[in-house]
Amino acid sequence: MLAAQLDDALHALGYESFRPGQRESIETLLERRRLLFVAPTGGGKSLTYQLPAVALPGTTLVVSPLIALMQDQVRALNERGVPATFLASTLDARELRRRAEAAAAGEFKLVYLAPERLAQSRGLLSRLDCPLVAIDEAHCISEWGHDFRPEYLLLGDLLRWLPDAAILACTATATPVVRDEIVARLGLPADTPQIVRGFARPNLELRAVDPRDRADRNHQIDELLLEAIGDPKSANGAAIVYAATRKQAEREEERLAAAGWRSGCYHAGFSGQDRERVQEAFSSGALDVVVATNAFGMGIDRADVRAVVHLSPPSSIEAYYQEVGRAGRDGDPAWGLLLISAADLHTRRRLIEMDVDGIQKSDEIVEHKWGLFLELMRLAEGGSCRQAAILRYFGSEEPMARDGCGRCDACKSLSSEDHDPEEVTLLVRKALSGVARAQGRFGIGVVAKLLKGSADSRLEWSGLDSVSTFGALKEHPEDWLQRLLRRCVTAGWISFTNQERPLVVLTDEGRAVMLGERPAKLIPPPARGPAPKKGRSGRASVVLDDLDDTGRRIFEDLRAFRLEQASTEGVPPYVVASDRTLRECAVLRPQKRAELLHVHGIGPAKIERYGEAILRIISAH
Ligand code: ADP
Ligand code: ZN
Repeated sequence: MLAAQLDDALHALGYESFRPGQRESIETLLERRRLLFVAPTGGGKSLTYQLPAVALPGTTLVVSPLIALMQDQVRALNERGVPATFLASTLDARELRRRAEAAAAGEFKLVYLAPERLAQSRGLLSRLDCPLVAIDEAHCISEWGHDFRPEYLLLGDLLRWLPDAAILACTATATPVVRDEIVARLGLPADTPQIVRGFARPNLELRAVDPRDRADRNHQIDELLLEAIGDPKSANGAAIVYAATRKQAEREEERLAAAGWRSGCYHAGFSGQDRERVQEAFSSGALDVVVATNAFGMGIDRADVRAVVHLSPPSSIEAYYQEVGRAGRDGDPAWGLLLISAADLHTRRRLIEMDVDGIQKSDEIVEHKWGLFLELMRLAEGGSCRQAAILRYFGSEEPMARDGCGRCDACKSLSSEDHDPEEVTLLVRKALSGVARAQGRFGIGVVAKLLKGSADSRLEWSGLDSVSTFGALKEHPEDWLQRLLRRCVTAGWISFTNQERPLVVLTDEGRAVMLGERPAKLIPPPARGPAPKKGRSGRASVVLDDLDDTGRRIFEDLRAFRLEQASTEGVPPYVVASDRTLRECAVLRPQKRAELLHVHGIGPAKIERYGEAILRIISAH
């Protein structure tokens, strides 16, 4: 089909221009006749079958499980003069028969079919001149997904009955495993094109924080709310706070209500009526903050949600991105704060193992879900652009997946004064050359030993103990090297070949970084215990020389606070406080706000901004 024809059909449907991925999808579909199109909810997937349906001769079949949505689309099409109808079990038998007859007579350009009608529709289908079958919500065929619908398994048969039709599967569920499962279960060839588009959210600023203690955690939340929607008395926009458990939700809601927020709590333990009331109050603007379990969010149409806070990591990267994606629908700046702590691992494991409705989960499902959760934890602990990591996880090839978002906490740290890109690039290149040596033969643990130069029988028998990479990073602890390598995985430079016993391989991007063709945009993991000499820590140790042990610890904590604060504010660390200021705090150890004024570089403005945090850090020692 010519470009001009596509444009004409687009205008006939009442649209002016294509959204990301729409034109490409339609062209690919028409050319290859098979396509899996993945775009977020609201991304405009339906146009990619409606437009060809209008342009092609015959009647396009659309399978969709959402009856209300189907009705809406049919109505909108009819209003535009496109003949369309739907078949669902909500209609009585006579009406169904009438519509099926009209469909068989070729009266419609589009016929929407609910999946439970599939089994009874063979007669109709054999009479239909059908150029295209579109399958909406195609992930419902995946048994791993939470939306599994057994009726969708009949789709494989349907497609076999219509061998001449082009096939378009649409979904917002982007994980590669689910995508491949969709293709396989529909009986489509493995090389069916997959287009993944529209997931980048340039107005979203993501942060992941591991708070030092409860006070720090509360502080992080309060600061974010302040930044995103202002103070409780003059809130502008709304926030959603997600909790992992009902108890966590209730406790946090109490805290926020006590701070003056117009807040509500929402979880499955409340009656349907209570939940509806909270949802309505939130939608209408009567509430500014809702603290909820993941049950909340479907059908929330507030476009001015400015902040989404996760008190604990949700079940997967997908769940996280879907939830945080409820912020900033209006395109204005919006924030996502993900709080993580070691305790989350236990909580999530318990939630995953918990039997629902007395049905015991198989070990396989528990392990699968656990793996999805660990991917999210790895993302949170990563040292590279958060959003790019999510996009890569989804298999998206949008430019942001490689270039980074420039807004998240990681991107901000990367552009801060404390970050030395050349030093880090050198470090990462060495680490990746270790991966190149172990390529396809060993896991991450052995690569760390190789870089450390540790004695190991596997390195000996493979001869790797005599290559130049052996001990190339011997000044770093082995467990730190492991963490560095894990960050390189999240950054998209290292991948694995073997599911059971993962063996490292360099990705194309990783090879380019190793060869020095691209800079390594990565924050190395923080050192635990004594920092590995040289560089920045070398500078710091001069400053620390005349401090006692407690003073050193305070100084280090203040430095960590400063770095975090700087990345939060998007300013260089020295703007937050100079080394001299921090050192004096560590020596003088002020106990009250007023005493802070004795410290070099601290005035009333700094006290207002950082006073509480600094005093808290000092008093913790
Ligand atoms: P999805 O199926 O991906 O969830 P929809 O197809 O329902 O999303 O589209 C979401 C909204 O975007 C609809 O209101 C639709 O009319 C609108 N839309 C889709 N494509 C375009 C476009 N090219 N220009 C303007 N609006 C569009
Ligand atoms: Zn980023």
